[in-house]
Amino acid sequence: MNSPQFLKGRHAIVTGGGKGIGAAIAKEFARQGASLTLMGRDVAAIEGHGKKLAEEFGIDYFSQACDVTDADSVTTAFSAAIRKFGDAYILVNNAGQAEPSGFAEMPKEFWDRMLAVNLTGTYLCSQQVISGMTRVGSGRIVNIASTAGLKGYARITAYCAAKHGVVGLTRALALEVAKSGVTVNALCPGYTDTGMTQRAIQGLEKALGKSADEARQMLLRNNPRGTFIAPEEVAAAVVWLCSPESSALTGLAIPISAGEVM
Ligand code: NDP
Repeated sequence: MNSPQFLKGRHAIVTGGGKGIGAAIAKEFARQGASLTLMGRDVAAIEGHGKKLAEEFGIDYFSQACDVTDADSVTTAFSAAIRKFGDAYILVNNAGQAEPSGFAEMPKEFWDRMLAVNLTGTYLCSQQVISGMTRVGSGRIVNIASTAGLKGYARITAYCAAKHGVVGLTRALALEVAKSGVTVNALCPGYTDTGMTQRAIQGLEKALGKSADEARQMLLRNNPRGTFIAPEEVAAAVVWLCSPESSALTGLAIPISAGEVM
């Protein structure tokens, strides 16, 4: 059981923290008293969410524009965040995008974009915090991968390749820093009830002429529970991995899949 406000005064950074899963994670960190940095490209979303959490939970927050695919943008954003609240105790690499494409017709630009945002972004952001964490001797990196990081799904080869890459990065980095007090883990949600899944439903409606309900059922066909994962269910697992009691958990890639077998 976590002590109340176990993140009080500790710096937690969430990429893509203004929407969807990232917003739910930010809320749970705020509930635990963290000093919160939210990053993303949509400044209105991160600033609005940070302000709301500050009002609700009385925390300090910082919102910082950041495109995780752009090395200069990442360096600028993390330097500003660390100047504001000090070394990060937590980094959640949550920013990501998922788009479908048949493999044969997939343009290289599309492949590069999926790899850049989902995999290279995780590398760039993690590199900004890892030295500070190992120097202090504590820290938590949680990467939001996907069930697509553990098994294949048709028509999302680039996304699957990127998320498998995130799982590989997680496992290798966890070993590299295992003696330092820093843990590195990946969470692998199935279809989660966010804007990303909403766009997937709309895409199926358009491409296959399905109704919204038929499209939803297509996405749920591998999910034994029959309902999408809630962002709050992912956030609860993130908080658990960041708790002091989870210090022996590292190098894991944990499915949050409502029973879908990996
Ligand atoms: P949303 O589309 O709701 O949110 C995506 C987030 O990523 C936004 O906050 C967005 O912020 C941010 N983002 C996207 N591109 C960039 C970029 N280049 N630089 C910085 N931030 C970026 O999706 P979810 O909340 O569902 O997704 C969050 C994570 O969870 C992703 O990594 C996704 O792959 C993963 N995931 C999602 C699942 C789902 O079914 N929804 C299932 C499994 C994993 P902004 O617009 O401000 O840039």
